[in-house]
Amino acid sequence: MPAVAFVSTRNSSTIVSLSEAIERGLAPDGGLFMPQQMPAVDHSAACDPQRLPSVARKALAGFFEDDRLQSQLPQIADAALNIEAPTTRVEKSAAPVHVLELFHGPTAAFKDFGARFLAECLQRLQSPGASPTTILVATSGDTGGAVAAAFHRRPWARVVILFPKGLVSARQEQQLTCWGDNVCALRVGGTFDDCQRMVKEAFMDLQLQRQHRFSSANSINIGRLLPQLVYYAASSLQLYQDSGVKPSYIIPSGNLGNVCAALWARLLGFPIGRIVLAHNLNRAVPDYLQSGVWQPRKSILTLASAMDVGNPSNMERLHGAYTSVDALREQLSADSVDDATIQARIRQDFLEWGREWCPHTATAAEVYRRLPAEERKRPWVIVATAHPAKFHDVVEPLIGRTVTVPESLARLLDLPAQCTDIPPTLAALAASIR
Ligand SMILES: *Cc1c(COP(=O)(O)O)cnc(C)c1O
Repeated sequence: MPAVAFVSTRNSSTIVSLSEAIERGLAPDGGLFMPQQMPAVDHSAACDPQRLPSVARKALAGFFEDDRLQSQLPQIADAALNIEAPTTRVEKSAAPVHVLELFHGPTAAFKDFGARFLAECLQRLQSPGASPTTILVATSGDTGGAVAAAFHRRPWARVVILFPKGLVSARQEQQLTCWGDNVCALRVGGTFDDCQRMVKEAFMDLQLQRQHRFSSANSINIGRLLPQLVYYAASSLQLYQDSGVKPSYIIPSGNLGNVCAALWARLLGFPIGRIVLAHNLNRAVPDYLQSGVWQPRKSILTLASAMDVGNPSNMERLHGAYTSVDALREQLSADSVDDATIQARIRQDFLEWGREWCPHTATAAEVYRRLPAEERKRPWVIVATAHPAKFHDVVEPLIGRTVTVPESLARLLDLPAQCTDIPPTLAALAASIR
């Protein structure tokens, strides 16, 4: 019996190992996998908070215990998490406010951490001689690029990306369509919800299942959440060592994957204070915490498009762990920010702090400013989920200058792009992946 088993949110008698949970993505009953209990972390073990692979060995050891992948954790962490994730102080603020910079990966958003870790795990779980796995991803922007970068030129995998035509930024589209080789980009004449529906339909279609070995890389996969808790562990250890006070985190949120990771890091005993969610006008979570009634809805388009989620899939994990709204209120709070305020925040923080935010990060920066002055005497961390250069068309007019493009992103912007336009139907998807 593995030390930590994983169970479905819909049926706690479905028990699987870590490897199985990663390979399956979604539980057979349609639920999401959760650790049956949080493993113990050896907090006396040495680790270097500046290096994510070092923190990963300590923070994730319990999840990997007795699993097929146990002996490989160090190599997986070295290969996937060799990305900088510094927590930097906002020097121009008198209050102790910091930024957790999660945009130093190959596609300049935090999705790189999860996608790369998942790719390294799945690679080690392939049986020799098996036919390639087809990874289907519906994306509203950042996930598709990160998954493509992580799985590009891995011969055992084929990636099919579905994205809504005209609803991603120009630079995001370039990052989805610049790969070639084993990555195929489909531009769907529909919305993100259409793309997600088509992926679900493909997964349930028996005939397609016989032709392909499908796997999912969306944030429901536990193999994406585990590496995300590592940067919260590392950041909190570093700030706690410096100040002796537990830092609190403000997280730009959509599907709530990043929030689950932060909650898990705190449950593991890493020194994290409060966890606050920043949403755009998709207010399902803030409204739930206020009213106590869970009402998923259609998504609304905003400037922070990667957070345009009306029915966050990881809510099922939160409902599973905290069965009443009061229990959830004890763990986190949430606020919402409209587009005009996102724009004003980008402008003001550039003038006052010299910081350039992407529209997602700006929601967290705004929620920070709304905290009572007394609260702001304690250390806070604004989680920066993407680089502003990915959203230069929004950011540059507001700050009145061009945003310097990170080198890894610049390389991708120079590659030739290719994609296929399809209507929003399963038949069109099936035909284009045949
Ligand atoms: C995906 C994404 C988010 C939302 O993260 P969730 O884990 O889905 O809550 C926020 N900001 C950016 C830039 C993203 O790409």
